[in-house]
Amino acid sequence: MQFRMQEMMAKGLKSTIQEDLDVSGLFKGRIDVIRTSPLHVSLEVVGHDGFITADGELSADLELACSRCLEPTKGHNTVIPFFEQFKPASKGDAEDGTGEDEDSDFVEIEGDKLDLKPFVEEALQLFMPFAPLCDDKCKGLCQTCGQNLNERTCGCNNERIDPRFDSLKDLFKD
Ligand SMILES: [Zn+2]
Ligand SMILES: [Zn+2]
Repeated sequence: MQFRMQEMMAKGLKSTIQEDLDVSGLFKGRIDVIRTSPLHVSLEVVGHDGFITADGELSADLELACSRCLEPTKGHNTVIPFFEQFKPASKGDAEDGTGEDEDSDFVEIEGDKLDLKPFVEEALQLFMPFAPLCDDKCKGLCQTCGQNLNERTCGCNNERIDPRFDSLKDLFKD
């Protein structure tokens, strides 16, 4: 997944990546990630005049734990669209007055070597849901006894009514 930028841009080279990347190390310590398959990277990398594009998708089979009940979530197969544009970092003292806008969509790369791996890994990490759910309606675990409330109800009384709601209830009384 490494390219020489100058050559790609000068010759307008095109390259296809079909590669499996081991990403198991990225999620060490995350209890909500039960298992990850290798990340399949499918990208087309094209050299243009002055920049390089990488376009395609990443796919993986991710087994995540529900953030409420800790059971595995369904629907593992994940496809993440990937699009990134790279260009050589501009010289620090370039005062050429072309007015290049600072917040462009290009990632600036120092040196001639473009390594896509960190960008691919970052895209996967950004995609990972913060709080995965097995189901939108997951009832979670009982906060008193730990029973999975999707399987059965327990006898615990976890109801705690905020006193502020009492007055609200009166408002909606007909
Ligand atoms: Zn759940
Ligand atoms: Zn309970």
